[in-house]
Amino acid sequence: MNQQYRDILELSKLMYEKGMVNAFEGNLSVKTGSGIVITPSQICKGFLKQEMLVETDMKGRIIKGNLKPSSEILLHVEAYAIRDDIGAVIHAHTPYATAFAVANKEIQTRAYPEMIVLYGGIPLVPYGTPSTPGICAHLKDYLSGHDVVLLANHGIVAVGKDLYDAYFKLESVESIAKVLLLARLLGGEHDLQPDEVIKLYEMGNRKAKPD
Ligand SMILES: [Zn+2]
Repeated sequence: MNQQYRDILELSKLMYEKGMVNAFEGNLSVKTGSGIVITPSQICKGFLKQEMLVETDMKGRIIKGNLKPSSEILLHVEAYAIRDDIGAVIHAHTPYATAFAVANKEIQTRAYPEMIVLYGGIPLVPYGTPSTPGICAHLKDYLSGHDVVLLANHGIVAVGKDLYDAYFKLESVESIAKVLLLARLLGGEHDLQPDEVIKLYEMGNRKAKPD
């Protein structure tokens, strides 16, 4: 089995076991030389086998496989079309990040250094009907400048140079979303001083986000 197939099977199982992709949710893909390999539609990520994965060309047309590709194949195809440097895409409905998406709130903070240095913020892509081209209508505006984005009323997308890179970004943003939500239940974050926030944005090579 080649590395790309192995990565998809390993991380699909891990994400299922960690409660990041329940039942049939979520989809993972990797770019190959000739197209992409993607998880199939309507199969639980915890029980995938090599022969269930689907290969398509860069437009999402099936090259190899007996099952239907993920219903979000267009989202993956569009992500690869937007940026040449993307080697893998993961879409999921992880509970904490998806809570922000469903509440239509981007993930922003002036209190959590890791979040500011690593990501600056996680933007919210305007709503598009899941599993239709509408989901991609505004993707370019946001994915051009961010590796992780929220899809309004839907979930989260992370991209990376390979599948593990995309996965670790998704996992860390889910953890940050959890911390921020819990902090807000405790009365809200204790914001850092503006000069400290600016230092963190500079560490991450970002301009400070104006209020
Ligand atoms: Zn979804």
